[in-house]
Amino acid sequence: MMNTLLKTQKNLERLGYTIKVFDDKAQATDYLASKLKGKRIGLGGSVSIGEMGLYERLQESNTVLWHLRLSAGDDVMQVRKAASQAEVYITSVNGVSKAGEIVNIDNTGNRVAAATFGCEKVYFIIGKNKIAPTLAAAIDRARNVAAPLNAQRLGLKTPCALRGDQCYDCDSPQRICRNLSVFWRKPTGCEYEVLLVNETLGY
Ligand code: SF4
Repeated sequence: MMNTLLKTQKNLERLGYTIKVFDDKAQATDYLASKLKGKRIGLGGSVSIGEMGLYERLQESNTVLWHLRLSAGDDVMQVRKAASQAEVYITSVNGVSKAGEIVNIDNTGNRVAAATFGCEKVYFIIGKNKIAPTLAAAIDRARNVAAPLNAQRLGLKTPCALRGDQCYDCDSPQRICRNLSVFWRKPTGCEYEVLLVNETLGY
């Protein structure tokens, strides 16, 4: 796996991203907490971020906007919008190919929009379980692994959530897969840093 991680690291560097590699999520969390002080930070809907305890940690020294931690009276769409216009945006991804193509599937689109344009700096957090051999395999992983688990986590009545095995390309009104984003390489509009974590993180 280390070999795969190193190859992915080299390819992401070649595509223009700044890369840091960490042994585990605690190291990655410490790194972000040490780098980010006094910033306005938006967080994407991400199980990896929850597992890292990143919201709580970054809140110690920053203003953090996350629609998964609302205060009384907050409007979820307003928080999503504010997060996408913050100085810094942090999110995980649904898949990355060994060649460095980054894949995300989204519903409301706030995560792919914020990661694509508007913030000054974007951090992608990628656990080793997100690495796939090809772009097609990364998209397949996003559709058939990440999305069904996210639908289950959200308690939806989609066929993938009820059966828990794969995507059924459903017509459910609760369908969460409405938008596919592939970064072929680093966009030019803002700074990007990828944190590769050599352990399983999120899904
Ligand atoms: S398209 Fe429907 S069935 Fe497929 S993963 Fe998304 S919500 Fe589940």
